Amino acid sequence: MSVDDSAEIQLLVMMDASANDDQVEEVLALLTEAGSYGRVAPGSESIVIGAFGDREALKSLVLEERDGVESVVPIRKPYKLVSSEASPEPTVIQTRGKRVGGDHFALIAGPCTVESREQTLSTARAVQAAGASMLRGGAFKPRTSPYSFQGLGLEGLAILEEAREDTGLPLATELMDPRHVEAVVEVADVIQIGARNMQNFLLLSEVGKTDKPVLLKRGSSASVEELLMAAEYILKEGNPRVILCERGIKTFERSTRFTLDIGAVPVLKEETHLPVIVDPSHAAGRRELVPALARAAVAAGADGIIVEAHPEPEHALCDAPQQIPTQRFAAFAEEIRRLVEVMGKQIG
Ligand code: PEP
Ligand code: MN
Repeated sequence: MSVDDSAEIQLLVMMDASANDDQVEEVLALLTEAGSYGRVAPGSESIVIGAFGDREALKSLVLEERDGVESVVPIRKPYKLVSSEASPEPTVIQTRGKRVGGDHFALIAGPCTVESREQTLSTARAVQAAGASMLRGGAFKPRTSPYSFQGLGLEGLAILEEAREDTGLPLATELMDPRHVEAVVEVADVIQIGARNMQNFLLLSEVGKTDKPVLLKRGSSASVEELLMAAEYILKEGNPRVILCERGIKTFERSTRFTLDIGAVPVLKEETHLPVIVDPSHAAGRRELVPALARAAVAAGADGIIVEAHPEPEHALCDAPQQIPTQRFAAFAEEIRRLVEVMGKQIG
């Protein structure tokens, strides 16, 4: 296998001061076998090998576990501003007195979509009474079929505004189109960028120019690194307030709507200082599974969950099978609250 000479340096392999020549040769041979190559840095006291090539192939070698290797230092992370190296402290995002990040857990709940004033207000009141810290609801809906209900649009935003006035809950709602930035920014406390738009770079740059927190959902076929790179677009424009959301990815498995990548939570917590939340509703696709996935999210260290609820889920215009009936939301929220406390955090 040959390696392009212009391959970027990806890792520094720091050898033990006592490492012998054979151990150095072994690391160099492993790099070559993996289609990468190593160069011994000249002149330093203990031996340092620069590893060039494909980042993923190099990572899979787990060089830090080889004899004679003291540590492996990744360099040139593709994401910079979002990286935990950029800020050792977790970012805490505050809106209307509610916080997410650090010790503060966000319990975000509400309908998939705004269908009517009555449905939205009754859901908002139920989740607020149960202790939710933020209201969710889509006025602009990304639907797989162009014949499905597309959301109430501007009328939906006005209803959400009324629900916020009524309950005092901050509002998270989706932005899909750069032409709606102004209208959504005016109403939303948190701008949601949905899974389908995670790599809509124009939209990411636009929300990066606003002063509103952004809830960025992972694309269903996007890697963790791609999610972080998407967040980088927003921070690069000057908006540091981004909340990342794991909402399930596409796998071969059909028993859930998506496969909740619970491992992404600790990985993201390690890689970034930004808050990380989980959407168990879209991952599960079935309301019976939502509580278990929500509990797993809390236990995995998530900074919040975003959950769909509806007064009459069986009549919902969107995502009917996965919405929790508002009548059952209080019991669900109480269970979550207890776990959040076990994790040393508080809701809101
Ligand atoms: C939603 O939250 O309503 C939604 C459409 O989710 P996702 O973008 O994760 O599919
Ligand atoms: Mn939905």
